[in-house]
Amino acid sequence: EEEIPENHPRYQDLLTRHRIERGVEKGITHLQGMHAEGRGSAFDYLLGEETIPSADDAERAAAAHLLLADRPVLSINGNVAALVPGEMAALADAVDADLEVNLFNRTPERIRAIADHLREHGADEVKGLEADAHIPNLDHERSKVDADGIYEADVVLVPLEDGDRAEALDEMGKIEIVIDLNPLSRSPQVADVPIVDNIIRAVPSITEHARKLAAADEDELRAVIEGFDRDRALEEAEERIRSGDL
Ligand code: ATP
Ligand code: MG
Repeated sequence: EEEIPENHPRYQDLLTRHRIERGVEKGITHLQGMHAEGRGSAFDYLLGEETIPSADDAERAAAAHLLLADRPVLSINGNVAALVPGEMAALADAVDADLEVNLFNRTPERIRAIADHLREHGADEVKGLEADAHIPNLDHERSKVDADGIYEADVVLVPLEDGDRAEALDEMGKIEIVIDLNPLSRSPQVADVPIVDNIIRAVPSITEHARKLAAADEDELRAVIEGFDRDRALEEAEERIRSGDL
């Protein structure tokens, strides 16, 4: 990260790419994560590489959901771990949520490497190593979760999630918060709170909203949630991308 000059016009994008490469080298990110990153980067370019107002609204609603939850869980995959490990640990702290490693290409080595990486970045406890429960309607490997983690959670934050698993979690009746730069992807389409923003900007923003809402009572938090329109947020993101207005 030292070799990228901060005044480079595409500094953030280069930094992101570099972090994914380092993640692959360290064994925490699967090679396919690089393709996912490339797709994200293209959508971010079309969004102007900034948090659009409807995404900020979604980030505030996500904070309210996480604060109201009885058992909130933040899901971590190889791209999330490579891009925002410390930021996810800080969010878990701010809303009193658990962190759970949840991989599309699951191996015990990668799960351990990601858990270690998160702890090096300030996480206390990391779930996902037990894998003693299954999400219904998914093939065996993809369905593994912790019984006292994602399986029991009432609110889940699933950034950059695979469409099948996002649908299966939705069918379990969970309140699902998705971070995904492609508003047409299935994961944001099934989310209660779709956040169409780069995870690098989205996670610190949710944490900041959570800190501002920390003293709010239940009624205020419910009002924040009710004031958020998920369909409108998806439409606004798509309109911004199609406008070509950079
Ligand atoms: P599918 O249609 O099966 O969901 P996909 O194109 O969505 O396929 P996935 O690998 O499942 O591919 O998901 C990666 C998603 O993550 C993409 O929609 C991509 O835009 C998004 N993404 C990648 N990097 C980031 C990032 N830094 N922040 C937010 N979203 C990202
Ligand atoms: Mg997708």
